[in-house]
Amino acid sequence: MSTDVPAGRFPVRLEGVTKRFRQGETVVEAIRDVSLLIAAGEFVAVMGASGSGKSTLLHVMAGLAPPDEGRVLIDGADLSSMSDGELTRFRRRKIGLVFQAFNLIPSLTADDNITLPILAGGHNDRSGARVQRLLDRLGLVPRRHHRPDALSGGEQQRVAIARALVNDPALVLADEPTGSLDSVSGQQICRLLRELCEAERRTIVVVTHEPAVAAWAQRVVVMKDGCILTQFGTGEFKDAQTLAAHYQDVVNVAGPETLATPCIP
Ligand code: ADP
Ligand code: MG
Repeated sequence: MSTDVPAGRFPVRLEGVTKRFRQGETVVEAIRDVSLLIAAGEFVAVMGASGSGKSTLLHVMAGLAPPDEGRVLIDGADLSSMSDGELTRFRRRKIGLVFQAFNLIPSLTADDNITLPILAGGHNDRSGARVQRLLDRLGLVPRRHHRPDALSGGEQQRVAIARALVNDPALVLADEPTGSLDSVSGQQICRLLRELCEAERRTIVVVTHEPAVAAWAQRVVVMKDGCILTQFGTGEFKDAQTLAAHYQDVVNVAGPETLATPCIP
């Protein structure tokens, strides 16, 4: 791939990335030869059937799973050049992670869950103000002293998003963030992610199998059998239904035989 584009313009840059897992006797290529550029302030949805490699793609971007081949550059920095400690600090500063299962600590209040990443990175005078701003911004002030089991799914996910944002990351990676939510709460989370992109110029990558979620993104990357099958902009679709129909078309048209050859990013 050409390297003449300044790396800083692309907070996410994957170059020929393959990630394998051993399952007993066999080796699964969870993603294979994936190249992808995501621009600053872009909101990208990653769609695809279960097992197509979406979560692995996100984990590789987050430096949670080192690739077997290829390179991952985040904000111009090659993750493979970092030690485990450097990678942890880099991730804490640059990347906010959001998961389907919220992953909050059950014994801590909303406030304390949000504050946790600050404690890990070093508390300072401005930390309290940052947490307060996020509670305000995400409508969590009345719920701040509640533990996760006293919060609705949508509220728990908003706490998880606040926690992901507390160190002010430029990149937010979310794996099926609405997968455990009802559709109204799910749409609220999507609206929030869109605002983070538009108002705050954060780069957002959301894994989802729901067209109603993908419709909030600017671009959809479709995964199939570990490869990028195709990509399309969402601008041409008037609503989630038309996007869903297009998605079904591309997935159905490209049968497994299409992917027998190396995939084209
Ligand atoms: P998706 O998120 O699209 O459902 P995944 O990225 O989780 O897909 O998985 C892609 C493929 O890699 C699947 O075949 C899955 O079984 C395999 N895989 C993912 N993670 C692991 C792992 N930690 N160990 C073994 N196999 C894995
Ligand atoms: Mg997954």
